[in-house]
Amino acid sequence: MNERSVQGTGATAGTTASHGVLTRGTVVIDVEACKGCDLCVAACKPGVLVMTGATNRRGYRYPELRAGCTACRACAQICPDFVFQVWKFDQPVEIPAGAVPSARGAVRGNGR
Ligand code: SF4
Ligand code: SF4
Repeated sequence: MNERSVQGTGATAGTTASHGVLTRGTVVIDVEACKGCDLCVAACKPGVLVMTGATNRRGYRYPELRAGCTACRACAQICPDFVFQVWKFDQPVEIPAGAVPSARGAVRGNGR
């Protein structure tokens, strides 16, 4: 299983912000392992995975994360190439709409 629990960044569950998107987790994407099949984009119910126009070294487009991940793990479960690690925040955080949550920030303090 790739879901891990990490410390939130200070926002309180249920917080409402005028322009923020409630985000419960993030994903680490191994873009070089991706084959561009689009299955993860279709499986992501919040619609926070979008395919980039760029390609990896094998010539495949790959997904990129937007704000609003729920840490539901649907992407990790459907991806045939084990591209995703899913990280769940202890507390939801507010992220500006359209921003890409920092996976590196999400794993801070988790020994990785
Ligand atoms: S964990 Fe769920 S919400 Fe987050 S990117 Fe994957 S499918 Fe989308
Ligand atoms: S399901 Fe996996 S291989 Fe397919 S596009 Fe998404 S990340 Fe790439």
